[in-house]
Amino acid sequence: MKFIFVTGGVISSLGKGLTAAALGTLLENRGLKVALQKFDPYLNVDPGTMNPFQHGEVYVLDDGAETDLDLGHYERFTSTKLSRLNNLTSGQVYQTVLNNEREGHYLGKTVQVIPHVTGEIQKRIQFVAEHTRCDVLITEIGGTTGDIEGLPFLEAIREFGLDVGPGNVLFLHVTLVPFIKAAGELKTKPTQQSVAKLREIGIAPHILVCRCEQPLNKELRQKISMFCNVPYEAVIEEMDVEHSIYEVPLMLQRERLDDLVCERLRLNVPRADMSHWQDILRKLVAPQHRVRIGVVGKYIELQDAYKSVYEAVSHGGIANDCGVTIEKIDAEDIEKQGPKAVLDGLGGILVPGGFGERGIEGKILAAQYAREHRVPYLGLCLGMQIATIEFARHVLGLADAHSTEFNRATPDPVICLLEEQQHIRRLGGTMRLGSQPCQLVMGTLANHLYGAFLIHERHRHRYEFNGAYRARFEQAGFVISGTSPDGELVEIIELKDHPFFIACQFHPEFQSKPDKPHPLFKGFIAACHNRIHQRP
Ligand code: GLN
Repeated sequence: MKFIFVTGGVISSLGKGLTAAALGTLLENRGLKVALQKFDPYLNVDPGTMNPFQHGEVYVLDDGAETDLDLGHYERFTSTKLSRLNNLTSGQVYQTVLNNEREGHYLGKTVQVIPHVTGEIQKRIQFVAEHTRCDVLITEIGGTTGDIEGLPFLEAIREFGLDVGPGNVLFLHVTLVPFIKAAGELKTKPTQQSVAKLREIGIAPHILVCRCEQPLNKELRQKISMFCNVPYEAVIEEMDVEHSIYEVPLMLQRERLDDLVCERLRLNVPRADMSHWQDILRKLVAPQHRVRIGVVGKYIELQDAYKSVYEAVSHGGIANDCGVTIEKIDAEDIEKQGPKAVLDGLGGILVPGGFGERGIEGKILAAQYAREHRVPYLGLCLGMQIATIEFARHVLGLADAHSTEFNRATPDPVICLLEEQQHIRRLGGTMRLGSQPCQLVMGTLANHLYGAFLIHERHRHRYEFNGAYRARFEQAGFVISGTSPDGELVEIIELKDHPFFIACQFHPEFQSKPDKPHPLFKGFIAACHNRIHQRP
């Protein structure tokens, strides 16, 4: 078994996760069984309670783990199966160590960062490797070299590397080579310093992946090679991508990153055939058609908050050979300027998941606009709750209908707290989480799109459609097309007299891949495209 550790230097947001995932793609396409995991040095047990401004999207796995968004990249780029064991935080490590201490496992000993904390980290590497029976385990260490809280993780992987021996371990450092406009050149000093920092800790990286806006020339590569003590061919250029993140594996293949990794780890495997990726990319770069859709949210200025949603939309585009331009719309702008001013001319409207009251009325206006103007609508989680409230208010005439999340005293709580949530007080990890079965109703749009009767989708919510209102909704043309198998929980809704209006209580975006677009996104983009092209 071989181990690759991916660290990052100079600044955060360099795309370490993408690099790790793209390397995973290349190795998988060389016939290797690849597993990926992420270590996050923060003290939260998981990112589930963090604000998107702090952390970006929370990515949910089948088993209900609320994880870092890099795990989304791992699932989209490879066929690796992930569980809560694939995302380890300092919070989890300390929780385990402290529980062990109270249980008396370390009796007589002083409990210390080395070896107890580092030991727990190493156990997790070993466990995932054995559990997945992979050929190569790629472990990404979050944060930036030099962070105090990241030190135990770096120490743990240093020791681990020593144990498994050279030829079985590879340290890959992702770093920044900034272009300084005033000087008109790329600068290598930050990279040199970040590598020096790593070497101080005892880790000498084997490969440097240099993120840059401009190509690295021969001299720069030589300079980095010499000062950072890596062979010339191990200085890999990773430029900013022009069109799509799905260019990254192809770019790294051109730089021969996977050849280098296989050589270094003595893996004798054929070259990767990436022709299907090239095909995906062609559809992204030069699509036959183009549509413009609006994503109405509250964290729109933040690139990472709706990451999987944006990705899934682009997969829907790939499936239809249709380029998608995403307009990121602040729900509060709809409240201020009115729906027509903001939404007119869009091919489709998508309302993603969310929490908290800000922007809710704007989202309701967006759903109303989509329903009344027959614009394709896709609602995800909160987006389904919004569509329900809108229908109650404007079709059923329940003017003050609301979700009890936003108005506890509403006379018509069409969305209310799930039964199982009534007595929960603790916030962390207590929502209805993870993969749940859902039964589809024959002849509905959902049934048609999925081509199935039983599906499994990932959830993350506390509130649900209030069953007491079901008959009234259904009589007015609101179709409940998917429920939990016992028929109790409403999971998918759609509108009878509308070309495409569908919303779900789950998060389909977490199961979409570029080569396996999710049926709801595929159908949504197809509907947006049809609408535009049917116009006079
Ligand atoms: N806030 C809503 C709930 O808890 C929706 C959650 C979501 O969109 N993920 O039910």
